[in-house]
Amino acid sequence: MQRMQMFVGGEWVDSSDGEVMTSIDPATREPLVEVPSGTAEDVDRAVTAARQAFESTAWTDMLPAERGRMLNRLALSIRENAEELSRLETLDAGKPLAQSRADVEVAARYCEYYAGVADKLLGETIPVRPDMLDYTLREPLGVTAHIVPWNYPLQIAMRGIAPALATGNAVVLKPADETPVTALKVAELIEKLDLSAGLVSIVTGTGARVGAALAGHPGVDHVTFTGSVPTGITVMQTAARNVTPVTLELGGKSPNIVFADADLEEAADWVVRAIIQNAGQTCSAGSRLLVERCIHEEFVARVVERMEGLTLGAGIDDPDVGPIVSQKQLDTIMAYMEIARNDGVTVRTGGKSPSSAALSKGFFFEPTVLDGLTSDHRLAREEIFGPVLSVIEFETTAQAVQIANDTEYGLITGVWTTNINKALWLADRIRVGQVYINNYGAGGGVELPFGGHGKSGFGREKGLEALRGYTQLKNVAVKIKPNA
Ligand code: NAD
Repeated sequence: MQRMQMFVGGEWVDSSDGEVMTSIDPATREPLVEVPSGTAEDVDRAVTAARQAFESTAWTDMLPAERGRMLNRLALSIRENAEELSRLETLDAGKPLAQSRADVEVAARYCEYYAGVADKLLGETIPVRPDMLDYTLREPLGVTAHIVPWNYPLQIAMRGIAPALATGNAVVLKPADETPVTALKVAELIEKLDLSAGLVSIVTGTGARVGAALAGHPGVDHVTFTGSVPTGITVMQTAARNVTPVTLELGGKSPNIVFADADLEEAADWVVRAIIQNAGQTCSAGSRLLVERCIHEEFVARVVERMEGLTLGAGIDDPDVGPIVSQKQLDTIMAYMEIARNDGVTVRTGGKSPSSAALSKGFFFEPTVLDGLTSDHRLAREEIFGPVLSVIEFETTAQAVQIANDTEYGLITGVWTTNINKALWLADRIRVGQVYINNYGAGGGVELPFGGHGKSGFGREKGLEALRGYTQLKNVAVKIKPNA
């Protein structure tokens, strides 16, 4: 088993108390790597070093265009190491190799995208009166903390690190307990950029030790948290003690709404893809299928046929569906299947772990379709976070909107119809952060503002909108003396 150290204040170190934790390969349950289990003291070192780096002249005097070049070099170096990063992501998180390769490409794209805006952070002039010049400056916040989940470890890490650096902040990142490897590998690439020591630190460890210390550290100027609703609430409460602003990217129960007039072949392909991507462990998974009553049977049959044709296997063999990330997450999915059984819900396919001996070593779960649900049922409301699709039928367009909005979440929605008026009518009325019409996810969506309503969280990442989260606005008013 490999042993890795964490990257704190520009040095590779063990945890201050010597504790370690083990990450396992979810396809085999074999130990993969041992990393330091960081402490509050390690977090304090990282935040102190980040503050020093943030205030160092090497960073404050760096031209914005040079920050951009630095991020472009990082993008290049991620691409040069793409195959190694992809394989490590697959072994650590379980996802099929093709999906890890796509994630690594998106991670590089974040660097490139924000490299391009580093020298375009414009302010405004505001007309107040003739003898006054008023202008705004968009300034970095200082030290930004990033707490990330296990489902898209590298992609979500770079989604925060790239805009934070582009806008001139210093960064402390905590990877998820289950998936620390690729963030540490990227730290090796960042080290080669020869930046101020401490500009980027990666502190590995548990949420209880590292996450809580980071969210509550008075030296942190902003916390970006991506993860579950209960932990998001805790992080927000902890950050509130220091009045530290937070961006919360939480869960979802996103619907694909399919009308009878849609291209049903294409819609069925995408409905399946939207729920089996990363074995359904995706915040924006299309975990609800809202289907027009007159095509219910026909369309669900198409979905079931596709689900039954999917291959399951270790991510490294690049199947359609890899393992669930951990025993804990598999248990959560199983508990939802118990609810389905107890409530007599129709399981059209799946609903269990595969019986094959080859897959019995890992945390596998079959792609599953639960039919005939109503939107008040727990299986239609709660995030299962597995390859489990909940089907609800609707009769009218107004009813489709009502069901789509009948959730505590509000992350994304797919609408499938050839009637553009209907599509736009729905897009106006659905309470979510993103609507996709006749597509789902826009191929990574680095450029598109992303975030939720309700319990999906608040604040926007990705696109130019993310820059607001990593900067604050200063207004400067200058009195001009006449005839000086
Ligand atoms: P989680 O909330 O269990 O953990 C997320 C992170 O928080 C981990 O790094 C964890 O160690 C840390 N953490 C745990 N306790 C903490 C505490 N007390 N203080 C500070 N940090 C703490 O979530 P998860 O199970 O890793 O991820 C799955 C969830 O993430 C799902 O609900 C999913 O929808 C959501 N998610 C959302 C998005 C998005 O962009 N909206 C993206 C991916 C995942």
